[in-house]
Formats: sequence, C-alpha cells, structure tokens
Amino acid sequence: MKIWRELLILVLVFGLIWLAFTWRPLSLPDSDFNLSSEREEDLAELILDDIKNQYEFYDDSITNMLLSPITSRLLDSLNPKKYEYRFHLIDSSGEINAFATIDGHIYVFSGLLKFVDNPEQLAGILAHEIGHHENGDLVDRLMKELGLSVLLAVMTGGDAVMVSEISKILISTGFDRKQEREADEFAYNLMIKSQINPARLAHFFTKLKAEEKSYPDNMEIIASHPNSKNRIEGALSHPLPKAFEEREFEIEWKKLIEEIL
Ligand SMILES: [Zn+2]
Repeated sequence: MKIWRELLILVLVFGLIWLAFTWRPLSLPDSDFNLSSEREEDLAELILDDIKNQYEFYDDSITNMLLSPITSRLLDSLNPKKYEYRFHLIDSSGEINAFATIDGHIYVFSGLLKFVDNPEQLAGILAHEIGHHENGDLVDRLMKELGLSVLLAVMTGGDAVMVSEISKILISTGFDRKQEREADEFAYNLMIKSQINPARLAHFFTKLKAEEKSYPDNMEIIASHPNSKNRIEGALSHPLPKAFEEREFEIEWKKLIEEIL
C-alpha cells in the first residue's frame, strides 16, 4: 500500500511541476499585470540594440531638431504620463511608418517625415503611438503573443534570439481594432489639448488611402485598413471644444525636411 501512496504523491508532484512550467494565462485584464519598471526599461534597451542592428538611426541632434518641437508640445499636454518618452528616427525613406516598443520608446521612419504635409499630421501619428503606450497595449500584446513565463524568462535572461523575436512582434502590426480605435481616440484628445485639430489625422489618412496600393498593409499606422474610411470620418467628426483654435507649428516643414533628410 505504501508504495502506491508514494507513487501517487510522485505523480502529483510531477503534475504540479508540469503545470507550473506550461501554464499560460488565457487573458489577463490590463491592470492585472505590470512588468516592474526596471525590467521593462532593461528589455526596452535590448530591443533598441536589436533594432539598431537592423536599421541606421539619425543621431540625436537631427532627431531632436526635427521631432522635439512636436513631441514636447504633445508631452507638455499629457499629465500624468506613464513613461519618460524617447523618440528615435530611423533612416529609411521607403517606410512611411512609426511604431512603439515598450517603456515609452517610439520609433519613426524618415519616410513618414517626408510623406506628411506638415508637422501637425506627424503630431497626430505620434499622439496615436503615445496612446498605445498610455493604454498599456504594448505589454498586453507581448503577454498575448508570448505568455507570462516566456516574457519573464527573456527579461531575466536577455536571450538575443528571443529579444529579436520580440522586436519583430512589436515592429509588425498586431493590435486589435478596439486598441486601434482607442489609440485614435486618445490621439484626438491629446491633439486638442495640444491645440492641434484632429482633422489633421484625417488629411493624413486620406493621403495615405489615395496611395495605399503601393504600401504593405502590415504597417502599424495603417493597421486598421480596410477601415481607413471610418478612421477618416472619426477624425473629422470628433467634437471640438467651443473655443478651440489651432496653433500651427512655426516650421517650414517641407523645406526643413528637404534640407536635412
Ligand atoms: Zn496603432
């Protein structure tokens, strides 16, 4: 009898160990899981290194000159903020895109800066990416794609292949429509607070829609394609406060971009 009892205990113990290693949360509400900020910061740096292996980056002086006037206006209107935001400018004229990784990092391709008609349109895109951060979409997405145990293993071990996988996940699109809609809503509100008309995003999407055949549809900023019509209508119909007045950036955008990029 004793041997059976010991066998049963052994099976139970192995069963529990197996469960501990294979259990994945099916879905966690956003608020239930937070990476510790230190771990998120470390992983964000590893992702940055990985992306730097794939792309050329503009140096800080050019990045700041082109992006800071826009990002500082948006961030001044954002209180409180979840992150200290960091913006990176990637030298890739062919890519009209921007994406967010984690811990407040936002990457912008030079192709996007060349494509937009004005800094107000770019502000709209950046506000959308900030929205993904503030809404917790990035960590939520990694949790869904990797599961908690893999994510924790990468953060404690920093395995290069896994980091590269994570970069790939974050560079490609993958938010659901609800997250995209909420990031757009966030952008409209942040734009209004920053005295930029949300209609600027509609102008951007209209321009993109007119040319979309030549772009891959897995880009973050056109992720809600084929819903771009709804997106344009959403930006145009977003209610403005009564006394709203847009304050345009005093930048000769097209001239500046031609000179620098
Ligand atoms: Zn998005």
